[in-house]
Parts: sequence; C-alpha cells; structure tokens
Amino acid sequence: MLIAGGLFDAVVDPGHGKAFDEIEARGLHVFPGVVDAHVHVNEPGREEWEGWRAATRGAAAGGVTTLADMPLNSLPPTVDEDALRAKESSAARSAIIDYALWGGLTGPDQMSLPSLMVHGVVGLKAFLCPSGVPEFPHLDASTLGPALAAAAAAGHLVAVHAEDEALVLKGTEQLQAMNRRDRAAWLESRPPAAERRAIERLSDAARETRARVHVVHASSSAAVTAVHRARERGADITVETCPHYLLFSAEDVDRIGPALKCAPPIRDATSRERLWQHVLSGEIDLVASDHSPCTADLKTRGDDDIWEAWGGVTGIQSLLPVMLSDGVHRRGLRLAALVRLVSGAPARLLGLWPKKGAIRAGADADVALVALEREWTLEAEQLQARSGVSPYVGRSFRGAVVRTLVRGITVFDDGEFPEDAGRSRVGRLVTRMGT
Ligand SMILES: [Zn+2]
Repeated sequence: MLIAGGLFDAVVDPGHGKAFDEIEARGLHVFPGVVDAHVHVNEPGREEWEGWRAATRGAAAGGVTTLADMPLNSLPPTVDEDALRAKESSAARSAIIDYALWGGLTGPDQMSLPSLMVHGVVGLKAFLCPSGVPEFPHLDASTLGPALAAAAAAGHLVAVHAEDEALVLKGTEQLQAMNRRDRAAWLESRPPAAERRAIERLSDAARETRARVHVVHASSSAAVTAVHRARERGADITVETCPHYLLFSAEDVDRIGPALKCAPPIRDATSRERLWQHVLSGEIDLVASDHSPCTADLKTRGDDDIWEAWGGVTGIQSLLPVMLSDGVHRRGLRLAALVRLVSGAPARLLGLWPKKGAIRAGADADVALVALEREWTLEAEQLQARSGVSPYVGRSFRGAVVRTLVRGITVFDDGEFPEDAGRSRVGRLVTRMGT
C-alpha cells in the first residue's frame, strides 16, 4: 500500500512501488483506523477528568484515528459557536489523532442550531433523562418534539441517550427508600424497560418531526428491538452499542465496582449474549466506546455506596481489543463486519465517509496495524487515562494494536507515542461533509 501526502495512494503488491519510507507489516493485519463516534474528552473545563492529551493517547494505543467528542462534560458544554471555538482550540493544543465535534441539543429554542451546522458539527447530542451535569439539561415530554423539529429543520442528526426519566426516577426512589447502596442496586434502578420506553417515545417524535436520530449506547436486547420496531414504522433511526456491554456482566460490576458504573448499566450475562447476537446478525449499526472518564476520587467515593460514584467507563483504548478478542476470536465475528462496525459505519453516520473509515485511494491514510493472534494483558502502566482507573486494567485480550497511523504519520508504535513530544500536534478537526 502506498501513502502520499497523508492519503492512501494505491494498493500495490509487496515490493512494488517506490517510497521514501517503508513500514514492515509482515504478519500483521492492516485495518482502517477506528472512528470512535462517542467520546467524552472533558476539556476544556474538566481536564482533571481526562483531557485531549490523555484521551487521544489512549485512542492511538487502541487503533482509533478519529474520535467524535460529546458536548458534555466539558465546560462550557458545546451548545453554541463560542463553546465550539473554545473546544477546538483546546483540542488543537493537545490532540494526536483527528477529532470531530458533537454539538448539544438542550431545548426547543436554541438559536445556535444553524451556526453549529455551519461549523461542521457531526450532529447534536440530547438526553431523555437527566444528563448528570446541571449545565446540560435534558429534553422532557414537552420539549422533545419541538427540539427534534428544530434540529431537523437545521439539518442535524440527533444522537440520543434513551432512558425513560420517569421509570429511572421511580426505580431509584424505591431502592433508595429501601436503603440499598450495593452495586446491584444501580443496575436494578435502570431496567431495560426504561430504554425501551424512551426509544418508543423518541420514535414517535422522530416520525412526527422527520428528524434523523441515533440511539447511543444501547445496553439491552430490548433497546435494539425497539429501534428496529421504530425503523419498521418509518423512523429514520440507527443504534450503537459499546464494548463494556459486550464484555462485562452484572457479576463483574459486583466485583469491580464503580469503575463499571455507567448509564444505562451493565446487564446480566444472558442479556449480554443476546446483545452479541444482535451484533453478529448485523442489527446493531456500530460500536463506540462511550469513553467517559472522571477523577479516581469520583469513582472511589462510591465504593461503599454506588449512588455516590460518577457514572462512566474509561474504554477508548480497549474498544478494538474487545471486538477482536470477544467478537472475532470468541464468537466468530467476521473481520469485514468488525471493520464496518468500528470504522465504516461510524464514518458514514458522522458524515466523514469516505475521507475517514475506509482504505481506498484518496482517503486519509489512517491505519491500525493489528497482530490478530497476539495475547496480551492491559497492565496499569499501559493504560492511557489521566485517572488511572479503568475496568479493563488486568484484562487479557487476543489481538493487539501494534502501530497506529493518522494521515500517514505514526502516532503509536509498540507502546511509544512518537508524535506526542512533537512541537506541532498531529490531530486535526474533521467536519461533517455535505449529506
Ligand atoms: Zn456518553
């Protein structure tokens, strides 16, 4: 394969074509770089939680060459042009991979929607239940429809956290009234029915407003089935799941604790296998990390009272390894399907295709070189997260990212980050292309 000017030039037979520089990749698989559609970098504003340097190092170590950053939990949340500029400049200072930005949809009267579109955000993120941070309000029964209509009028894709506010509140109040503080209480408080109910509400609103919607982090078969029912009824809707729902189960939450607290929560092992069936049968459009770190303190404070811990899983570095180990090797996921789930489909969803997400002449030369059979364990010192906390630490994988290239530049090479010491940052903003 020849790379010129940061782009794929041509695929040639080994030994053919001339180049200034050659990369020996014998025995390795050449994947298009992973496009992670769902990441919380948390800078500016909460950089002590993670930040662009740590997040993009973790990304590079995991074969991720483009990430799409969510509008929260950075401060200010990226709901208008000024906030977007602040985020762009913090990313430009530290990112070693490419990045796209999500805007936020927090209400029906948001004047910034056209300017966010002009700015090239890949879409808008909205919540159907409280977001966890006060500066990012959710859409309730009265604002969901009008907000979706406004987003659709401005041409935006809307990514939705779909858990039903009322069901979650009821479950939480009941368990807290019983004085439950154990880890299982968190899982019980947010049942699959809350996902299903929220997706049904979303589906109705999306059909009425003709909004294009994407359900983020589906954790259960109930959620995936609800999305498919919505699609059959005419909604323009897609769905993603995350590696933590595919790898872990309720027993792991009990053992590992707050590092695995997230919303929606991890389900039981039977439910996890059902989710895999949806992945293997092509009913889930894509897999994204929902990398959402926080300080170690915000996790450990929930050790004995799960309600006290911040929710979010640190996982960008493990996305591809999980899919290789537990998908390809353990469950027979085909390589072509894997590439579609983590590169092609997210690039299309975000309007970055075919510049991103494909190995073809003219596309950005973003590559993950993978040793498909290599067995390895993620040691604490290899984890590229500011907090040092991740449920994946100590986990063994089969399939390892050996080297990562962004537009032809090596950003990760067998444990090293050659560009991180550089004066100019490699990462660039990528924006939604005309759809
Ligand atoms: Zn998220």
